[in-house]
Amino acid sequence: ITIADLVRESYKRIEEVDGKVQAFLTLDEERALARAEELQNKMGTDEGLLYGMPIGVKDNIVTKELRTTAASKILGNFDPIYNATVADKLHAADAITIGKLNMDEFAMGSSTENSHFAKTRNPWNLDTVPGGSSGGSAAAVAAGEVPFSLGSDTGGSIRQPASFCGVVGLKPTYGRVSRFGLIAFASSLDQIGPITTNVEDNAYLLEAIAGLDPNDSTSANVDVPKYRSALTGDIKGLKVAVPKEYLGEGVSEEVRQSVREALKVLEGLGATIDEVSLPHSKYGVATYYLLSSSEASANLARFDGIRYGYRAENAENLIDLYKKTRAEGFGDEVKRRIMLGTYALSSGYYDAYYKKAQKVRTLIKQDFEKVFEDYDVIVGPTTPTPAFKIGEQIDDPLTMYANDILTIPVNLAGVPGISVPAGLSEGGLPLGLQIIGKHFDESTVYRVAHAYE
Ligand code: GLN
Repeated sequence: ITIADLVRESYKRIEEVDGKVQAFLTLDEERALARAEELQNKMGTDEGLLYGMPIGVKDNIVTKELRTTAASKILGNFDPIYNATVADKLHAADAITIGKLNMDEFAMGSSTENSHFAKTRNPWNLDTVPGGSSGGSAAAVAAGEVPFSLGSDTGGSIRQPASFCGVVGLKPTYGRVSRFGLIAFASSLDQIGPITTNVEDNAYLLEAIAGLDPNDSTSANVDVPKYRSALTGDIKGLKVAVPKEYLGEGVSEEVRQSVREALKVLEGLGATIDEVSLPHSKYGVATYYLLSSSEASANLARFDGIRYGYRAENAENLIDLYKKTRAEGFGDEVKRRIMLGTYALSSGYYDAYYKKAQKVRTLIKQDFEKVFEDYDVIVGPTTPTPAFKIGEQIDDPLTMYANDILTIPVNLAGVPGISVPAGLSEGGLPLGLQIIGKHFDESTVYRVAHAYE
């Protein structure tokens, strides 16, 4: 089997199923085959960690000459002139980028229904959502179109779709992976991370993309371990904390049941399990929407019709051009966030909302730090329910926001978290187990996830 065969297999599968799943926004088979040829010629000499592996990339990660839209009309014709650091790292690891994956516009959403271009479907049941915002990234892996993909996670956007689609998705520690070339949503929360069918592949992919980057001042100068060596299967004596808030109200009984069963498995492997409390987690969603929308309102100011992408026609003057471009170019959810964010940052409201939210963020972070003084990992569900039906929550933003009650605190604290498949719901849809670790301790997260899976 040649590397070109792998690429063709991937494209063949895409041809078979993507008409229904609609995970991909941009494909370029010719380019992928040329790359396969290039890699074939270096076989046996200095092969990279992901040698010949087909990978899909979320469409908010800029890729040179490969259209990058963030699923927004305003970037509908944007062909970047440079690569995100992670795209360079994939190249250096000898992976092959197959195409760009659908998402909620600017990563705002939990169902991928906010994409300007297409509604991705959950391969397990085409009437249900794949989750979001990295819905294309999770669905493509679940449907067997690519074995690896990259997503981004600001409040749950890797873990929630991984959970809905029955795949493995990790949000690394804030600072673990460079954000250079990630189209910014909320810069203090955004992280790029790997989505795969199993924990071992996930560990390989993280190893390939992690590390300090001079182009991202928030990337951390912390050694990148060989995560694969953490996959020993041995979790004897490991201390697992289960927050009581994570199995409380708002979490469906079948989800709670699957977590209880997972805890039995971990106990059977020699881990000890205790109940703990993350008392400020209940403020997570409110805190997150103030902070992430505030940051988004600033980050999205650059889309003005002058510098990139879409430009409205028939503007009467410069201000009118900005207004028309943004009115026509952004979707409803993005506008909702910009309005909320500019409000929270405006003078007279800043102290009551933005500053207050920052203080609550610190309390949430301290809750985690306190638990991690005594425990190795925190375990709970990834989402309160399995995948919901397409259209079911789209007119109800607050219900949609509640999808992330269990993932958002992890972003606010900056710690790593993974979702691994944890059985099926009564309706036959995947459920996910979330394993959360200490800052920069992805190794232990992987060790537990691998022992469990
Ligand atoms: N669903 C959350 C939101 O809409 C999280 C999105 C994300 O992690 N990018 O903001």
